[in-house]
Amino acid sequence: MNTETTSKDNGQLNGFTNEAIGDDHLFTSLDTPMKANAFDMSNEEKKKRISILFSEIMDVMGLDLTDDSLQGTPDRVAKMYIEEIFSGLDPKNKPKMALFENKYQYNQMLVEKNITFYSNCEHHFVPIIGKAHIAYKSSGKVIGLSKLNRIVQYYAKRPQVQERLTNQIANELKSVLETEDVAVIIDAKHLCVSSRGVQDDTSTTITTFYGGEFNNASKILELQNYLNK
Ligand SMILES: [Zn+2]
Repeated sequence: MNTETTSKDNGQLNGFTNEAIGDDHLFTSLDTPMKANAFDMSNEEKKKRISILFSEIMDVMGLDLTDDSLQGTPDRVAKMYIEEIFSGLDPKNKPKMALFENKYQYNQMLVEKNITFYSNCEHHFVPIIGKAHIAYKSSGKVIGLSKLNRIVQYYAKRPQVQERLTNQIANELKSVLETEDVAVIIDAKHLCVSSRGVQDDTSTTITTFYGGEFNNASKILELQNYLNK
């Protein structure tokens, strides 16, 4: 059994123990923390291992795994983790980006709003459901609109915290579009806040990234106006 731990200072983060942090969602880095050998194991092997380990969790909780309704659950969870909700951990699944010349010489902001995504909180492994709004100003290159959506979905399909998701999407856009002029706004509901913990069903969390020309009061106002339409 692999007992490797990712924390370097006796399970403490910023001087706090995990117990003291509790439900406060601190995170450590912009990159999703991954082991160096994360992809040594094949996806088939990962699914087998997860299925075995998940059936153990169910067994410990006292569930009867011989029941017709439950016996397929470990395999279903394993397949869902690797092929669907955490598929964005694997760089092989990163969307391929084709850049096009900006033939129309459109040089104002482009806004793609209300991109629905489903992610999962890395502290509780329960869903984060939200909408991402993306804006950029072309540097002379453009990408297909569906690619903006695909970038959001790729980074959402990881265990996440919303701040990191926002910045990972912004960084990818900057690199693909070869410009600093990108903005990302995410408005999301965290089920670890609503379905458990403080059980607040009405709050949502908003995070923003305003880069280059977007880091300017009048541009932010213009963008907010489009989003409020
Ligand atoms: Zn959480």
